[in-house]
Amino acid sequence: MNDWTPLNNIGIAVTERAELKHYTTFQLGGPCRALLDCATPEHLLAAVEHLAARKTPFILIGGGSNLVVSDQGLDCVVLRYVSPSPLVEFSEGLCRVSGSTFLDDLAGLLARKGLAGLNFASGIPGTVGGAVAGNAGAFGQQIGDTVESADLIDPDGAKRAAGGGDLDFRYRHSALKDQPAIVSGVTIRVIPADQRRLRAERREILATRRRKHPDWKTEPCAGSFFRNLEAAPETGRRQAAGWFLENAGAKDLRRGGAFVCPKHANIITTASGATANDVYLLSEDMREIVKSRYGLDLHREVRLAGPFPGRKAPAKSADYFW
Ligand SMILES: Cc1cc2nc3c(=O)[nH]c(=O)nc-3n(C[C@H](O)[C@H](O)[C@H](O)COP(=O)(O)OP(=O)(O)OC[C@H]3O[C@@H](n4cnc5c(N)ncnc54)[C@H](O)[C@@H]3O)c2cc1C
Repeated sequence: MNDWTPLNNIGIAVTERAELKHYTTFQLGGPCRALLDCATPEHLLAAVEHLAARKTPFILIGGGSNLVVSDQGLDCVVLRYVSPSPLVEFSEGLCRVSGSTFLDDLAGLLARKGLAGLNFASGIPGTVGGAVAGNAGAFGQQIGDTVESADLIDPDGAKRAAGGGDLDFRYRHSALKDQPAIVSGVTIRVIPADQRRLRAERREILATRRRKHPDWKTEPCAGSFFRNLEAAPETGRRQAAGWFLENAGAKDLRRGGAFVCPKHANIITTASGATANDVYLLSEDMREIVKSRYGLDLHREVRLAGPFPGRKAPAKSADYFW
C-alpha cells in the first residue's frame, strides 16, 4: 500500500486504479495501480524520487498518442507528464520547454512569435517529451534535428543533461528507446522568420492533416501503426508502409471493433466496443497481408504496453513497453 500524502501535499493528483483508456488517444486500456498527474519538472522529479525510494515499478506516459495499452491494464504506477499550458522560456536562438508541454501548443506558439524550427510538427498530438523520445517527425523533418540539449531523469531519480548529438536520433528512434530515461525538459534551436509566412504554412499543414488523417478526438487511433520501410536504392527515400498496406488490401481487414482507417491504410481506428486485443490482432493481420503479398516485414511504430496474446506481463518496468 502506497502512501501518496507527500505527493498530494505538493499538488500532485493521484488516481488509484485509473482506467488508462481515459489517457490514450486510442481510448483503450485497463486499470493501472495508480496514475500520478505531473505537470511540471518539479512535480515529475518529486514523483520519480518518491517511487524510486519505495522501489515501486512505474512507467511514464505523455499524451498517450502512440500507445495501445492492454485491456488487462498495467500492474504498475503510471506517471503522466502533461501540462495544460506551455511551459516555455526563450533566450537568443533557443527555446527551453518542459517535456510536459504539448508539441502542437509549442509549434503554434513559435509560429505566432515568428520563430522557425518546429512548424513541421503542427498538429502532431502528444507532448514534447514523447516526441523527443520517439523522434517524432513529418514532411521529412524530425524534432531531433532541432534539439540542442535535454534534461533527463533516470528511473532511479538521478538527473543528467544530454546534448542533442548524444541522443542517437534516427528515423522515429532515440537513445531513450534503448535506455529509458525521462525527458524532463528540452532546449531546441529556433530561427527568427517571417511570422505571417509561418502562420500560413501552419494553417496549410493542419489542413493537410485534416484531409489525410482521422481526427483522433472522434476517431480513436494512434497515428501510423507501422514504421515506413527502409529507403529504396533508386530514390534514397523511405517507402510508405501505407502504400504496401493499401495495395495488399488492408483496408478490407477488420477484427471486432478495430478496422483500418478508410483515409489511410497505415492507421487503425475503432468503433465503440473495440478492445486493445482487437487492435493488436488486426495489426498482426496487416503485417501478415503485406508479408504474403510483398515478402516484406512491417515493424510497429506504435508501442504496446502490458500483456497481449503470446506476451505475458513483464517482470520489470522497463519491459512494460514493447
Ligand atoms: C492522429 C495522429 C497523428 C499522428 N501523427 C504523427 C506524425 O505525423 N509524426 C509522428 O512522429 N507521430 C505521429 N503520431 C504519433 C504520436 O503523436 C507521436 O509519437 C508523439 O510524439 C507521442 O507523444 P506522447 O506524449 O503522446 O507519447 P506517449 O504515447 O504517451 O508515449 C509514447 C512513448 O514515449 C515515451 N514518453 C512519453 N513522454 C516521455 C518523456 N517525457 N520522456 C521520455 N519518454 C517519454 C513513453 O514512455 C512511451 O514509451 C500521431 C498520432 C496520432 C493520434
